[in-house]
Amino acid sequence: ADIKMTSEHRGRVESEKIRNKLFIDGSFVHSTSGETMPVVNPHDNTVLTEVSVANEADIDRAVQCAAGAFERWRRVAAADRGRILLRLADLIEQNSEELARLEALDTGHPIRDTRNLDVPRTAACFRYFGGMADKFQGETIPVEMGFLNYTLREPLGVIGQIVPWNFPLMFTSWKMAPALAAGNTIVIKPSELTPLSSLLIAELMSEAGVPAGVVNVVPGLGSVAGRHLAEHSGVAKLAFTGSTITGQSIVQASASNLKKVQLELGGKGPNIVFGDADLSAAINGSAWAIFHNQGQACIAGSRLLLQETIAEEFLDRFVGLARSIRIGNPLDPETEMGPLTSSHHQQRVLQYTEIARGEGADIICGGKQPSSVALAQGCYVEPTIARVKSQQSRVIQEEVFGPFVTVQTFKSDREALELANGTQYGLGSGLWTRDLKRAHAFAHDLHAGMVWINSYKRVNPGSPFGGVGRSGYGREMGFDAMLEYTQSKSVWVNV
Ligand code: NAD
Repeated sequence: ADIKMTSEHRGRVESEKIRNKLFIDGSFVHSTSGETMPVVNPHDNTVLTEVSVANEADIDRAVQCAAGAFERWRRVAAADRGRILLRLADLIEQNSEELARLEALDTGHPIRDTRNLDVPRTAACFRYFGGMADKFQGETIPVEMGFLNYTLREPLGVIGQIVPWNFPLMFTSWKMAPALAAGNTIVIKPSELTPLSSLLIAELMSEAGVPAGVVNVVPGLGSVAGRHLAEHSGVAKLAFTGSTITGQSIVQASASNLKKVQLELGGKGPNIVFGDADLSAAINGSAWAIFHNQGQACIAGSRLLLQETIAEEFLDRFVGLARSIRIGNPLDPETEMGPLTSSHHQQRVLQYTEIARGEGADIICGGKQPSSVALAQGCYVEPTIARVKSQQSRVIQEEVFGPFVTVQTFKSDREALELANGTQYGLGSGLWTRDLKRAHAFAHDLHAGMVWINSYKRVNPGSPFGGVGRSGYGREMGFDAMLEYTQSKSVWVNV
């Protein structure tokens, strides 16, 4: 396999056209500041390329262009908006290898995942909402005789979107597709760590026929470009995915013009294994739940809750599985786990092992950077499993966002539920059992936006995605997303 990093892997983002540019009003343009920032390959911490950094003036210009484009885009027939998104889905598939390599280089996701999951899911999301555009409709309401009352589902206007670095390509589609299908226009700010795939998507959008100004992609710093977008009076709604603390500052920044806010924040997903579970399925599923994408997933199953009757057997086999995961260069198709996305984050995750030890936890697997020389320059962390005693431990209450899973044991269903619901987060959750009654009881009682029964971390463009509590509010995907990106207008006709 060719796993050397060459500029050819960076493909079109290295072209004169895109390199060092923002995408505003249908063209790639330089930031008015002329500032650039390096994009780093987490496999070896070398600089991949530089990208332009949007400042406040660039955000102002992008919002202004999106506002102008809104008046035209909202009048485009829904079926035609849908057709453009369907064409974009096809183009994503036609360019799948370039996107898969770029995402692997920029984020550290293994290429087997970017090829098989991130890119197909991105295409599927645009296709789903492309198909939805002309099927989403208002209602007629049975009011008093002599009147006709109906609702229009209207787009909101300019949507500011801010996304994190853990699934930059896929989250770009989750944010953009429903907003565009509903007739809104967009200014999107990718994470400063991983801006590359969204710039390539901007290029494909132009090819698909998205009119100039409808989508603007502005890489930049959260504290400058992100903050300015969140406080901007020309933005009707701010859709954010990222950490809870940033989400809180976005709510404050949004207050001046009362813009609508949607927040997809952190998680601390419980993953409960009962004594009657299919143990092999639960062990494999639990490894997927925490180690896929190096645990950098808001919906990671990061708290393993094991019924005492099977805890020892489960752990023996689970530790064996964790140790067998092939860690390596993301561009190697054999690699199952790549590096974390930045060295800053790698240090943060490693620090949590020390915190766990300090709290009396038993680290039964991993906890270090792998010893292999080939991985020494990169942001790698071994799969780490910590047996934790107290529910109040920081590693139970705080999101680690790495390949770090805590283990607690329980006796009864009641105890399992108490532990599962014992954090301030409420995003993903799951349980493994053959008992149908128990499964549905937990589906009802778990404090979470999503519950997986005998599986974990499943997503689909038709299925609502989002959290409760400190995990945020609002839902992406499915009909819910179309509701989030529209508002109803009630029309009364005296007939
Ligand atoms: P982050 O909050 O630091 O950054 C997210 C985005 O916000 C980035 O684009 C960043 O530039 C921007 N930003 C930072 N400060 C800002 C500010 N003051 N104003 C406006 N924008 C600002 O989060 P991160 O470290 O990039 O991502 C990891 C976090 O994201 C984790 O907590 C994870 O759980 C969460 N996440 C949630 C979901 C979900 O759907 N619920 C999905 C993925 C990740």
